[in-house]
Amino acid sequence: MPGFELFGDLERKEVNDVLDNGVLMRYGFDGMRKGHWKAKALEAELTKTFDSKYVQLVSSGTAAVSVALASAGVGAGDEVIMPTFTFVASFEAIMMLGAIPVLVDIDSTLTLDPKAVEAAITSKTKAVMVVQMCGSMANMDALRSVCDIHNLVFVEDACQAIGGTYKGKPLGGLADIGCFSFDFVKTITCGEGGAVVTNNKDYYINADHFSDHGHDHIGNDRGAETHPFLGYNFRISELNAAVGLAQVKRLPEFIAIQKRNYMIIREALSQIPEVTFRTVPNGGEESYAFLNFFLPNLETALKVSSAFKENGVDVCWNYYENNWHYIRKWHHLKEAKSLYPLSKEIKSELSKLSKKDFSQSDYWIGRNISCLIKLSWTEVEVTQRAKTMAKHIKLVVSS
Ligand SMILES: *Cc1c(COP(=O)(O)O)cnc(C)c1O
Repeated sequence: MPGFELFGDLERKEVNDVLDNGVLMRYGFDGMRKGHWKAKALEAELTKTFDSKYVQLVSSGTAAVSVALASAGVGAGDEVIMPTFTFVASFEAIMMLGAIPVLVDIDSTLTLDPKAVEAAITSKTKAVMVVQMCGSMANMDALRSVCDIHNLVFVEDACQAIGGTYKGKPLGGLADIGCFSFDFVKTITCGEGGAVVTNNKDYYINADHFSDHGHDHIGNDRGAETHPFLGYNFRISELNAAVGLAQVKRLPEFIAIQKRNYMIIREALSQIPEVTFRTVPNGGEESYAFLNFFLPNLETALKVSSAFKENGVDVCWNYYENNWHYIRKWHHLKEAKSLYPLSKEIKSELSKLSKKDFSQSDYWIGRNISCLIKLSWTEVEVTQRAKTMAKHIKLVVSS
């Protein structure tokens, strides 16, 4: 997945443009810029990449989720339905706004189960946030129809699925508002950065203002701008945007390498009857950033995971015991360990988490192994890796 693996002259050239004129900020200083507007140029490029009318760059993927929710009017007391398997950023971004994260099960797609979403809807539900984990996607048609029927905002976190598509449309650009991260380990990187993507002009204007203190960005006298509403600072810097501008142009090349490497490993593992693969909804194409497969049970998955580690197969994980991505080990969340007071409603919802039945999620996460697909592997290396993986899976399942 990581764009940082292929990093060089193109990125350096874009960053040097910014260093040469010294304008490190994305807004204002028109005269000093010598025509360089890296954040604006990257936004224009990303509208094409994600086939969306509007893109607002922000400082991180986590910021993108908060900005997206705020832009759609989600805030204090609103419930946001999110999956049990995601990155901690999902609930952080929701709680930043005083909204309430409501966690629900995933299915064999390793993303939101539409039935679990429907069952969790209450009169306080305002939004559904799908997280396109590990390079693939949920059943977007099913989720869209749940959101339409219940009049909910549909938010799409595609931070881990840059370059994937559903029915020919780029992931991230399918819901009412989408979020991307360009942190250091994502498919394309800015170092740190994120983006909010939408076809809704109001949401876009909200995101543009909200991510920069509520400034309206009208006219060219920054000091004279008015504030139609309150905001924060979630700006990206020109230096980070410059890196992203070089990286985004290489996205097709990155996806092609990922696909080649993914296919070699998938082909080798397909020969093993005990191995099955995650469900990709009809019409979906993964970004090939990860290969996810299932083993018959948790015990086998844990044994395979250890065998991989002992035999030099790195960047493969079973998330059952993982404390970044899966609810089981999110003790800080379940115990509401916050530096500052949380609202009664948030505390009440979090206090339910330890008792809730997430056995459906445990079933899929327990049996899953998720392997990062790197860009720097040569064909020879991937072929060798695939052989080693297949060998150790076979040894475990036959023992
Ligand atoms: C990386 C990631 C984020 C957060 O991105 P940052 O830029 O690191 O803040 C959010 N959601 C998911 C699914 C991610 O993988």
